[in-house]
Amino acid sequence: MEKKSNILQKVKKVKGTRDLLGNEIILHNHIIAKFQKLCNSLNFSQISTPILEYIQIFTKSLGLSSDIVSKEMYNFEDQGKEQLVLRPEGTAAIARAIITNSIENDLNKFFYHGPMFRRERPQSGRLRQFHQVGIEYVGANNILSDLEVIIVAEEFLKDLKIRKKLVLEINSLGNEISRKKYNESLKNYLQENFSHLSDLSKERLKKNPLRVLDSKEENDIKIVQNSPNIIDFLDYESKSMFEDLINGLEKLSINYNINRYLVRGLDYYNHSAFEYVTEEKKSQNTVLAGGRYNQLFASIGGKDISGVGWAAGVERIEMQMNDLKTRDDKVCFFSTNKELDLEVLKIIADLKINSSLKIHFINSGNFKKKFSKANKIGATGSFILGEDEWKLKKITWKDFSTGVQELVELGNIDKFLNKKFFE
Ligand code: ATP
Ligand code: MG
Repeated sequence: MEKKSNILQKVKKVKGTRDLLGNEIILHNHIIAKFQKLCNSLNFSQISTPILEYIQIFTKSLGLSSDIVSKEMYNFEDQGKEQLVLRPEGTAAIARAIITNSIENDLNKFFYHGPMFRRERPQSGRLRQFHQVGIEYVGANNILSDLEVIIVAEEFLKDLKIRKKLVLEINSLGNEISRKKYNESLKNYLQENFSHLSDLSKERLKKNPLRVLDSKEENDIKIVQNSPNIIDFLDYESKSMFEDLINGLEKLSINYNINRYLVRGLDYYNHSAFEYVTEEKKSQNTVLAGGRYNQLFASIGGKDISGVGWAAGVERIEMQMNDLKTRDDKVCFFSTNKELDLEVLKIIADLKINSSLKIHFINSGNFKKKFSKANKIGATGSFILGEDEWKLKKITWKDFSTGVQELVELGNIDKFLNKKFFE
């Protein structure tokens, strides 16, 4: 027989994962629906790649020193001895799909959403299975496409009513030549201060000095404040791309801060890097992050094409929206006697109203019970069909919050509801 503790263990969910139900899944779907609608209207096409990928797709592109590859990937060998990974992010997988489907010569504007997997220390805003929405603009080596993806981010965050809570931070990582020069100089500077760095930064310095700029440790921050500035190392091409980005943002009246410490954690980024962050000083304060990647495709065996895009954490968006109520309007229908139940069902079947309103038919119980059921499910009000109303081809509407009762023509229910809930 199994021990009691083992039985209990079985019903636990995996650490860092979430079941989505009730209001949580309503909010989750609301965010994704807004995202899809916006992307469709801006001519981004949806792409959905598998959750399973070969491990090389990520090891070759993100870089061995990235947090993801060095410690966060869920990778395993399957029964056929293939090295697989539960995708930790979307961009490299989409680049793989573009190469696999031989559409590298096209101009590709994609959007995606779905679960991602990283073995991190679970905490608020940091899960092991989380969800991202994201876009990729591939094949355009032009700052106008960087600006276009930032506009999509702006519109998306405004639509969710959280843009004002966030700050857009930008930086340039320059091209390969500029970054190499900068890396050298930063490395030398950090070596001089080696003994004062945190253990994590000492480790990062060995593999990728840029990552030290990411540190949240107080001592590291002090050292980093006097470090060389990447902007001073940008060559002509890199500098003019960064200037074009800034001029564009100014012209578009998009608020931004230049943050010279913003480096992003992955190897494939260059030139523009940006993040929408909250003002909290937490390590989970980035809601949406992205940038330009001009080496990604070549790093996994594709042509030398460039792209720019971003991804946002759906759970982090949800945290910003917790104080904003999403609409969950419900309306009930019931009859005063059994003989009219089929008439009520027919009325409901004929309704043409906005699908975000939930219609619930109460088909059992006496009059009093039906009322209390409607109250229990949290309906705004109920339509009640009785003999007298039926003869007049009308129905009674009772608003539960005001207690007001009125007669509505049967042919006018759609209009009545649309006016009440959607105008
Ligand atoms: P962080 O610095 O928070 O670890 P990151 O740089 O690893 O983020 P990206 O790979 O750029 O994150 O992913 C884009 C976005 O996905 C992040 O800005 C964040 O909103 C979200 N995200 C990343 N990791 C997680 C996670 N473990 N749990 C929830 N959301 C996450
Ligand atoms: Mg991370």
